[in-house]
Amino acid sequence: MERILISELGKHVGEKVCVKGFLHELRGQSKVKFVLLRESSGIIQCVALPESKEVFATIEKVPKESVLKIMGILKLEKQAPGGMEIAIEEYEILSKASLELPIQVVEKGGEEISLPLRLDYRWIELRKPKQALIFKIWTTLEEEMRHYCLKKGCMQIHSPKIIGTPSEGGAEVFTVDYFGRKAFLAQSPQFYKQMAMSAGFEKVFESGPVFRADRSHTVRHLAEFTGFDVEISFIESEEELMRFEEEMLTHAIAKVKEKHGTEIQKLFGFEIKVPLVPFPRLSMGECSKVLKEVGVIEEGDLSSEGEKKIGEIIKEKYSHEFVFVTGYKYSKRPFYHMKTKEEGTKSFELLYSGMEITTGAQREHRYEVLKEQAIGKGLSLEPLADYLSFFKYGCPPHGGFGIGTSRILMQLLHLGTIREAVLLTRTEERLTP
Ligand code: ATP
Repeated sequence: MERILISELGKHVGEKVCVKGFLHELRGQSKVKFVLLRESSGIIQCVALPESKEVFATIEKVPKESVLKIMGILKLEKQAPGGMEIAIEEYEILSKASLELPIQVVEKGGEEISLPLRLDYRWIELRKPKQALIFKIWTTLEEEMRHYCLKKGCMQIHSPKIIGTPSEGGAEVFTVDYFGRKAFLAQSPQFYKQMAMSAGFEKVFESGPVFRADRSHTVRHLAEFTGFDVEISFIESEEELMRFEEEMLTHAIAKVKEKHGTEIQKLFGFEIKVPLVPFPRLSMGECSKVLKEVGVIEEGDLSSEGEKKIGEIIKEKYSHEFVFVTGYKYSKRPFYHMKTKEEGTKSFELLYSGMEITTGAQREHRYEVLKEQAIGKGLSLEPLADYLSFFKYGCPPHGGFGIGTSRILMQLLHLGTIREAVLLTRTEERLTP
């Protein structure tokens, strides 16, 4: 018999159906045994009645979380969750689970499982419908960001992750043995998305892994994460990049709400807020000023505390969860950001509910100026030779930005840690599972 997804059962009332999934819950009474079967599309109640003798006698002994195939007649049943239930005629154990589960999928009230234990048994943790929803949302979010980029005429690229020169300075880089030579894991696709501009690709995007040998033990830093990067040619200023990004995010979040809003409301207990464009913009100088008014001193760059405070102020003043912080001093930015006359840069960061989710900038595309800027920052030109030569033979003015996708999810779904917004956590202390 062909398997029917639980979400499709509505079309088969009155028929004999076959469903497959995990044994979510089992409640036995003397006259009836209730089985909740769970798979990625939903949960269905199944019942074993004394008439089906074999099923009735054995089903209660099946350990929770075993994988089952159940066949029976689908009926409407007002009292069942979802309004339907299957009267089990036969079942088969496709995979028997151990009796003792290291963590429970159905948590009873007040049960507090520590995060490390939940991360140790991540594949069981992810069986919880609420946890799985995060990844359904990620799928939609990323699909819609791509969709927006494609509509705007971007090409997709996949740049190498094994590289010869670190792109973001040397401190946070992993080294690997590359056939006896020293190589690095890419800390961003920065150099290569700029190369694509020199190749005349005009607009590109990439979603891919980013590696940072980051020792910060925070709720928002990982050693490996997924970055969503965009780079665009022939821009006049960074303003065009901010407009692109705010429209892309608004579009993607609206689609998340459209597709998953009801389920988010049910499992997370709140409504997704779609931001309005334009997002507020605040220069770093203005940030310092408003922070000073509330007794916080931050100059040049925002600490995580400063970001949080700015998020609160923007929320109060503009009822907005996003804010672009602009006008960073060149002394705080990498050598490839374009300078303004006043020793500032054409760069920006985007904060979402008080946390940085993006850095972006117009880049310096003029070979001689770029070389001078690198020297000015005390960098050795030799390891940068390949990168610099991308600009030697003509390169359009351009700029772009990089987003940490898990940070968006974290803020969108009010998750307490980025570890809940990645399939598996990679930090200094965690390399398994
Ligand atoms: P932060 O100041 O938070 O450490 P950053 O300035 O080093 O971030 P960028 O190099 O600008 O970050 O990277 C672009 C984006 O990638 C960030 O805005 C953030 O969303 C994400 N990101 C950066 N580092 C990490 C990390 N270690 N773990 C998860 N996401 C990260």
